[in-house]
Amino acid sequence: MNSEVKVSQKEMSALDAYLNKVYKIIILVPPIAALMASVTFTIFKIVGWYEVVNPVALVIFDLSDITYLIIAIYFYRTGFDAQGILRHDKLKAGKIFISAVIIIQWNFISYMVPAREWWAFAFFFIALAIFFFDMKMITCVTGGVVISTIISWILNGENLLMPDSKYFMPDFILRIICIVLTTTTVITLTYFGGKYLVEELEKYVNYDTLTHLLNRRSMDNYLNAARVEAEKGAATFCLLLMDIDDFKKVNDTYGHDCGDEVLKFVAGIISNGVRKDDNVFRWGGEEILVLLNTGEGKAVSIAEKIRREVEGFVLNYRDEVKISVTLTIGLATYGSGKSIQEMMDEADAKLYYGKRHGKNQVVKDLSSDFEVQS
Ligand code: GH3
Ligand code: MG
Ligand code: MG
Repeated sequence: MNSEVKVSQKEMSALDAYLNKVYKIIILVPPIAALMASVTFTIFKIVGWYEVVNPVALVIFDLSDITYLIIAIYFYRTGFDAQGILRHDKLKAGKIFISAVIIIQWNFISYMVPAREWWAFAFFFIALAIFFFDMKMITCVTGGVVISTIISWILNGENLLMPDSKYFMPDFILRIICIVLTTTTVITLTYFGGKYLVEELEKYVNYDTLTHLLNRRSMDNYLNAARVEAEKGAATFCLLLMDIDDFKKVNDTYGHDCGDEVLKFVAGIISNGVRKDDNVFRWGGEEILVLLNTGEGKAVSIAEKIRREVEGFVLNYRDEVKISVTLTIGLATYGSGKSIQEMMDEADAKLYYGKRHGKNQVVKDLSSDFEVQS
């Protein structure tokens, strides 16, 4: 059970992992903010500061705010499955609920408290939805708030123009400017938060911390996408499975830290040896998988070039020892109907073949074309 939890949480996207952590807070904050507004209005009414607030409207307002909190607590308690994973249906319903709360609350306040500059708080209202990092949701909420604000100006004359305006430009223009600023700020925040920040986070989650290569969890997407393109006949690709030769000896002789340095260095050489649109993954311990968006001929020469560069490099470890390693590489070329698994098995078989036949070589064919390059 415990390992099940770990596996499913590990496979979550960065955005899912983030929402899993913050869901309880972001589902509760808007209804709590609404309730605080309720308490404030009620106190102000009792004290006599907001005579303009209609008492019946205020009671409905208070009751609806209490209802929001009860619904939010329901979402809070039922949002997760037995493994502690956020349920997607609940998240979706929760987003609709929060969006509705924000828009209804906004409307309530704009009609209940006329001749007040409540529109200036539009940003605060919309911002309550930002932390879901959902462009569609934020667009709907922003649209809802902006449209209801404009309708309230039209329906409620008192809200359209302040009689004692001391602004240097007409109120109406000022309000339009504020609305435009509010919406662009919110949309920009969501865009950079939701897209840039989460994408960056996604990258971090998908990269291996030691070698800075893409890690195994991110691999399937890239491989499947390459295969889909190849199936369409639009492109082709090759896989290179690489393994450092006698790496155990490096660890045993110079220590694990030194082994790590060698691994980082080799990863760097491989990354520099491929083009930008190719992908390099840390497949296992000291095994690296390269996805080359090219045909076999070019792939062989790239693999050869990398093999030679690794062979030629000397790592000066802490100015104490000089270490050299070599690579054995198995190459699999895409062919019509070949699955990724079949290609991986093929690359692995060729790598194994190379290991048994002298190492430090590129193996592109198991039988006739096999050549020892070292
Ligand atoms: P071969 O030429 O057959 O590949 O021999 P090898 O010694 O490289 O192969 P083997 O798979 O037996 O050993 C791989 C070693 O790589 C074992 C493991 O300790 C080491 N290794 C795996 N991951 C890491 C790592 O992140 N850092 C270090 N320092 N060593 C690692
Ligand atoms: Mg090895
Ligand atoms: Mg190995």
